[in-house]
Amino acid sequence: MPEVNIQHLEKVYDGNVKAVHDFNLDIKDGEFIVLVGPSGCGKSTTLRMVAGLEDITNGDLIIDGKNCTRLPPKDRDIAMVFQNYALYGHMTIYENMAFSLTLRKEKKEVIHRKVMAAAEILDLKSQLNKKPKQLSGGQRQRVAMGRAIVRNPKVFLFDEPLSNLDAKLRGSMRRELILLHQKLNATIMYVTHDQTEALTLADRIVCMSMGHIQQIGKPIELYEQPANTFVATFIGLPPMNMFEGTIEKGNFKNELFTYPLNDKQKQILKDYEGKTVILGVRPENVTRTGNVSLHITNNENLGMNTLVHGKVAGVKNIVCKFAEWCNYNIGDEIKIGFDEEMMHFFELPEGDMPGKAIR
Ligand code: ADP
Repeated sequence: MPEVNIQHLEKVYDGNVKAVHDFNLDIKDGEFIVLVGPSGCGKSTTLRMVAGLEDITNGDLIIDGKNCTRLPPKDRDIAMVFQNYALYGHMTIYENMAFSLTLRKEKKEVIHRKVMAAAEILDLKSQLNKKPKQLSGGQRQRVAMGRAIVRNPKVFLFDEPLSNLDAKLRGSMRRELILLHQKLNATIMYVTHDQTEALTLADRIVCMSMGHIQQIGKPIELYEQPANTFVATFIGLPPMNMFEGTIEKGNFKNELFTYPLNDKQKQILKDYEGKTVILGVRPENVTRTGNVSLHITNNENLGMNTLVHGKVAGVKNIVCKFAEWCNYNIGDEIKIGFDEEMMHFFELPEGDMPGKAIR
């Protein structure tokens, strides 16, 4: 049985603000799910409905076979992990971790056993008598985790837990979270707007936009086979380059370039002859050979690769990521092409709806 079933979940705030539309997801036991999307897409609202901090307008939430839709948070067997500033400054680390169990009036021996077990997992045993301000940011984050672990919840919920940390600490905390997930085999629902966190942490990503799920899948699936233009440009950094053009006699054609399609692409696009579609190419899939002209506007060497910004045919801005150290000058003109295995085609977006992938 999946650990969490979320069925047709919807949230309508006062004033008929529809924040979440028909959200469906089965989370398996031990799975690390990351909800990702831009600010305002409804990911926190979804998490808060699972936590019980926000009423569920429509739909059902089943946790381990039990319908929790209308249950108060304390009866849902979940733990929400807050950011490090939620620690009590006047309490020791031990007292912070023991806090929820003390509230529940657990026996002292039980509390001690649980806190020590969590401290062992989190490598905090030598810190238990200190106060939060004596700990590093990373250690404080682990204490916040410890407070959840001692409660042995069915599901851990994280709302942007790393967003207040600097870039270096975020990187190390990501690695810690991966190790911790392996150790605990915990079921985790994690919200972030950061696609890097989603790609590195998730077993499966749920990518959202404007209250709707856009795609659910393994990180590699969202990266290699984005379901639509929204996912294509949201996942991956720098974002995928997009070109509008028409399918004409075996070519993708626009005013900037004419690109011959291979047999596989012709087959996929056979119903689109004469129609306008979108070609998507990730910066890392632009090649340094081909027939497309690029006027260089910027050359950023990053050590192991170079980000080259330029204008296709002197008009359309794109970014290329070349695996070599390049030394282009502003104004240089080069020829580029696209890795044929990694060219993505989409229908045109309609209104608010992103363009569907053509496969
Ligand atoms: P995210 O976490 O993806 O940034 P939220 O779930 O916080 O997005 O918000 C989704 C949408 O719901 C936004 O349009 C936001 O303005 C709206 N919203 C969030 N909370 C409330 C509220 N308490 N009342 C009315 N609208 C809200």
